[in-house]
Formats: sequence, C-alpha cells, structure tokens
Amino acid sequence: MSAEPISHCTRCVLPSTFPGIAFDSSGLCSFCQAAEQEAPVATARQQLRTRMEEAIESSRGQGEYDCIVAFSGGKDSTYTLQQLVRTYHLRCLAVTVDNGFVAEQARENCYTVTAALGVDFLFFRPAPDFMAQMYRNSVVAGGVQSPASIKRASALCNSCISLINNLMVKFALQHEAPLIAGGYIGGQVPKDMAVLDLNLIQQEWIRAPQRDRYTQLFGPAAGQFFFIRQSLLQKQPSGRVTVINPMLTVALRESEILASIQALGWQPARDTGRHSSNCRLNDLGIAIHYRQHGFHPYVMEVAEQVRYGLMDRAEALAKVQEIPDLAGLSPQMERIGIGLADF
Ligand SMILES: [Zn+2]
Repeated sequence: MSAEPISHCTRCVLPSTFPGIAFDSSGLCSFCQAAEQEAPVATARQQLRTRMEEAIESSRGQGEYDCIVAFSGGKDSTYTLQQLVRTYHLRCLAVTVDNGFVAEQARENCYTVTAALGVDFLFFRPAPDFMAQMYRNSVVAGGVQSPASIKRASALCNSCISLINNLMVKFALQHEAPLIAGGYIGGQVPKDMAVLDLNLIQQEWIRAPQRDRYTQLFGPAAGQFFFIRQSLLQKQPSGRVTVINPMLTVALRESEILASIQALGWQPARDTGRHSSNCRLNDLGIAIHYRQHGFHPYVMEVAEQVRYGLMDRAEALAKVQEIPDLAGLSPQMERIGIGLADF
C-alpha cells in the first residue's frame, strides 16, 4: 500500500482506497453523488415493502412451511424472524448453519429466540474439515471472489454466504417452502435483494462455472453444498423460489433492533468482534481483507447507513478505522490452517 494517507468521503466515510471511487472538490464521493440522483430512499423502501408483501401473500399456505429463514442467531436475522412470525404470521422453519465458529451466546440465542417465537428450528453443521478447507482456500487461492463481492464482504464471509444461500435453497425445496428469508441490511447486498424471484433451473445453468470452480477449489465435498440435484429441483414444479430480505424495506437504527430482540431473551455475544453478533471468525475475515485490499469490508454497509441517516458519521468512522489485530486471531488462523505468509 502507498504511504498516501487514506481520506474519507465528507458525507458517508467511504475511503479513497475503495474500488472505483472518485471525489468532487468538496470531498463528496461518487457513490453519494449517484445516490443524490436516485428516488428518495423512503419511497424506494415503501415500493420494495409493497412488492415483498405481495410475494408473502401469494406464497402463504402452499408447502410444509411458508418460509425457510436463514437464521444466524445474530441481531439482524433475529429481528427478521420476529417480523416474519409476528407481523406477517408466516409458518417459518429457522435454519442455523454452524460454521464451527458460532459463539456460545449466539447458539443459546438461537434456541431461546425460536422457543419464544414458537418456531421450528434446525441447527445444521457441515463437516468441520470441509469448512476449514473452504475457508483456507478462500484466502489462499486467488480470485475466488468476484470484484463486486470484494466491495461488500471478506473472502471468508463470501464463501460462507454462498454456501449458506445454497443450503437454504435446498432446505426450501426439501420442505416445499416457496419463500427464503435472510436478514441482510442496507449496504450488505444490492437493494433488489429485498425481493428476488429466483428461477432455479436457469440459476443452475448460470452458476455452473462458479460451481465447478468451487468443487475444484474446495474439493469434491463442495458438491454436497454447491450443487442442487435435478430430482430436488423438480420438487418445486414452478422451478422458482422467492428470496426476501425484510430489513431492506425498513429504516431502523441498531439501537431499535437491539431493544426489540432483547424482549425475546436475545443477549449480545461478547467474543465476536465489532461487526458480528454471532461469528468468531468474522474479525479474521476483516483483518485479511484490509491487508489484501486496503479497506474495511464493512465500509460499504456502514457508509450506506450514514448516507441514509441511520448511523452517525463519527460512529461509522470509528467502526471502519479499527482493524482487528491479527496477533489476537491465531487460534482462528490455526483452525483453518493458514499463516501470516498465506495472504
Ligand atoms: Zn460518500
């Protein structure tokens, strides 16, 4: 990295090291300039909410469950599950994928919250050896991440999210659920993820090259997670599932989310770092990403929250300028089989 000091957008905190960024003479970044041209965010959210509610209504009562919820036990997916059950009265199956680094408090939260909401719950742990190999090769092998995903997530998160997304599609097919819900918040994913109609047959064809690459990188066991068998695809006669991320349709501050879920018995984990409320591997992903790319992998998400008035700029700057110290992360590095020389 160059010795040039990193400067940040005067509005949203995106840094000068962010891919494709430019600044005007007042220090306003190109992403903020583009946002000024868009429709007011409240209108856009309301439109997404209407579309999501239409998708929910047309999906109700069709299968064993209405909705498979990707439930990490973290704050955002907990809020999402609560909303789906209490506001929309959907019959949900909450599924937690244990990546081997789920904090003990987060695991407890999963059981407490699903019990409080009266929801069926599945805790699924892929073989630890496979997960370690996936994480290791996500860091060590070059080019696993697309340029677009580098802007939004660390390599460790990105592979894990891919795996979880695929697993959720499989659970949806197995349980004949027309909906899959996630707890993404603004800035983590593109806005159209609020409601996304997936044509699974087309998707399988589009994703074939990526899937083959995963198998090559992560070993034959990747097939179990990144392939969807024809016979399973045929269980959904329409060939479609709809993915919803309800939090993209609401404007909430973190404090409001926490107050709401603490009423369900949810408690914060203390060993997951500043940016995760469930995963003890997250800080390692951040530290590696910063070393490889020169910016914090959560900066896009945080910048969007600042831009739309959901986080104060000073708090955001503090969040993205504090990089976890690799020295404290050696147990995690050891578990996935990487050393400082690997990235
Ligand atoms: Zn900006």
